[in-house]
Order: sequence, then structure tokens, then C-alpha cells
Amino acid sequence: MPDTLHISAQSLSEEENDRFHRFRLITWWDQQKLRDAKVLVVGAGALGNEIVKNLALLGIGNILIADLDKIENSNLSRSVLYRKQNNGQYKATTAAAAAKEIYPDLSVHAFNGNVVYDLGLGVFNWADIVIGGLDNREARLSINRNCWKCNKPWVDGAIQQIDGAARVFIPEGHLLGKSDAPCYECTMSQTDWKLLQLRRSCNLLSKSEMETGKTPTTPTISSIIAGVQCQEAVKILHGMETISGKGWVFSGLSTDAYLTEYQKKEDCFSHDPLERIIAMPWSAARTTAAEALAEAKKLLGPEAELELARDVLEKMVCPNCRAEELLFVSLGQVKSDKAPCPKCKAAKREVVTFYKIRGTESFLDRTLAQLGVPPFDILIARSADRAIGLELSNDAALVLGPLLNSPTSDTVDETAGDETAAELEWT
Ligand SMILES: [Zn+2]
Ligand SMILES: [Zn+2]
Repeated sequence: MPDTLHISAQSLSEEENDRFHRFRLITWWDQQKLRDAKVLVVGAGALGNEIVKNLALLGIGNILIADLDKIENSNLSRSVLYRKQNNGQYKATTAAAAAKEIYPDLSVHAFNGNVVYDLGLGVFNWADIVIGGLDNREARLSINRNCWKCNKPWVDGAIQQIDGAARVFIPEGHLLGKSDAPCYECTMSQTDWKLLQLRRSCNLLSKSEMETGKTPTTPTISSIIAGVQCQEAVKILHGMETISGKGWVFSGLSTDAYLTEYQKKEDCFSHDPLERIIAMPWSAARTTAAEALAEAKKLLGPEAELELARDVLEKMVCPNCRAEELLFVSLGQVKSDKAPCPKCKAAKREVVTFYKIRGTESFLDRTLAQLGVPPFDILIARSADRAIGLELSNDAALVLGPLLNSPTSDTVDETAGDETAAELEWT
């Protein structure tokens, strides 16, 4: 049908129509879909560079790039978006600026922070699709759980030496999701879990030396895998069939590739979709735990609990001298070199974390930020059989920047009609 070729003249300028002319020669291509798309790119390393470059060239309209790291000299051999003069700058910021140079009509924003602990779940709810350029299982697992909560497809990429794999995971509840859809966690082997534990072996605290991936990779394999990832993303955005639930595995030495199919594990913890996400006029800096818990109970009854999207480090306790240090920060903020007791120098203090708020806690008057909850996060109101997301929507501008005005996703909950949530401008 020719209507798939329809381009709205209001949204795409003449210059853009000209720029993307060759794409439109592809019969099913709809540039407007790409122009309207909101993509979260997690990781701005070797894969992330190729992903962001591809998305900008393809004319994806809205991109949020998240990464904690700064550019080093050793990145320059595998990062098309970075130059020597960028050394020392944040990867995400530099990648965003470079993408804007490639496609000036792009809305792009950078998040310079820990993607596991400090990236609010609201960005997953904002995005139409998440693309991972990650080098570790901890981040993959976290993204997987976030995507399943917010019902968003995600495209994973992995590279090592000159081999790589691209995988697509689409939750069952998504428009393109299939019943019995496997997720990333379903694919994890015992070895994967072992390596994940290793990463967190020091008392749950981040191991500084493991923060930066030192995986041997080349720009050739990252461009191959990121190319397949972005191509799958384009197909998802067009509502087309993808390798959902499968992995495309490429061996660089033999130049062989094959598809592998994954099975859903019935006892997998990631399959925990929120029944809906309500945009609350809240912010991490101002809303207190008590207020949030009250809303949870209002929604789901007096037995309801408030659940945080991730563990918060409440305190560290010395097993030797029993000295306690109250922290209330996200686990990503504390490195393993903080483990020894400052008083008695005992080698390892115990880490006390929590993720549930029931109403008996001593810290209910604290703001969510004072509990280590990042801005624009989503809290979970949970009862025995229901789970509803409460988004800290007043933080949206803080985290999304210029992306705040990007077109509203049709997956944003329209039923957020509670009097408290009704007047939000950005939904
Ligand atoms: Zn699973
Ligand atoms: Zn001590």
C-alpha cells in the first residue's frame, strides 16, 4: 500500500525529505515513524558509538544516551564519534553532540551517570525502544527488568574480539510481543550468573576495577553488531517481524552466522510487568516516602507496600566494633574501597540494603532523593497480586532535557486521571 510511504510535510522539512530520499525508495519505509521515535541508548562505548551514529544517520528523531564514563585515549580506536580533543569529557555528552552534528534536526540528550543505579525508570517509560551497548551482565539484567516493567522492547548487543551477537527481547504485553516471550534473564546460564556474582563479590559494592570494560574488541565487530541491532530497531519501529526471542550470532573468524532461539523460563524473576504507570506530580527531591506510600495504599488498599525499583544502601555496619554509618544512597554511589571500617580498620563492613517501604520505617519523612531514589524514577505500589507504577513525572525535564517535548508515546498511560496526576503538561 502506498500509505506506508506517506510523509507528513509538516513534520519533515524539505531538507529532511531530500536527506532521506534514498530510504523512501524502500517500499515499506516510513521516515515519519523514525522521526517520531524515542530511543534510549544505554552505553556509549564501542557499540554505543556505532548505535548512535546509525540512529542519527537513519533520522531517528529523539535519542537519550546514557553512560557513566569519560573518554580515554584507548576509546579512540573504536569510537567514530570521539576525537582526541574529547579525551576527559563525558562519553554520553560528546556522543550526543556528535550525533546532532550528523543530523541537526535530532533531539538528543545525555545522561552522565550509572545506568543501573541512577537512571530513573521514567526514561524506560518514555522510550519506544531501548538499545544496549553494554559490556556487562549486571547492566543487561537491570535493563531487562526495567524494560519488562515498562513493557518496552530492547535490543541487546555483545562483542568480544571479532565475534558478536545481537538479540531482541520484546515483552509479552507489548504490541509486537508474543506469548511465552523469553527475556534476557531467561537466557542466562549458570556461567552468566557466576560472572554476575563475581562483579558484585565485594559486599555488593561496585568493584571499581570492574567498572570499565576491558574487553578486547575492534571497530569492525562493533559496526557489524550495532548495524544489526539498529536494523532490528528500525523493523520494530515499523511494527515488522524481528528476531524477537532469538539471537543472531556472528563468528568473525569463520564469517559464519546463525540464529539461536531462546525459551521462556517459568520461574524467571524479570517477568514482572506493571499493570499501568501513573504519571504522578512528584519529584525525588520533594516527595517524601510517606506521601508515596500513602498513594500506594490509596490505590491498592491498606496492605499495599511501596517498592523501590532497585536496592538502596541504607547503612554499613562493622562486624568488629559494631559502628554504623547511615548512607541512604544508591548502590552505584559507593565503591568497594569504602568497605573497610574507618574506626577500627576491619577489612569489610556489612552492607544493609532495602527496597521495600511498609510504613513502620524510621525514615518515612525523608524525601525520596534522601533515600537514594534517582530523579524521574518509577516507584511500585504492590499488593499481593497487583503492581502499579508511580512515576516521578515532575523530574522529567531534569532528566530528559530537550527531549521532554518529543511526541507523546502511545504507551504512556492515558488513565492517569487521578486528580493528583491530571494536570501534567508533558503527558
Ligand atoms: Zn525471563
Ligand atoms: Zn569497626
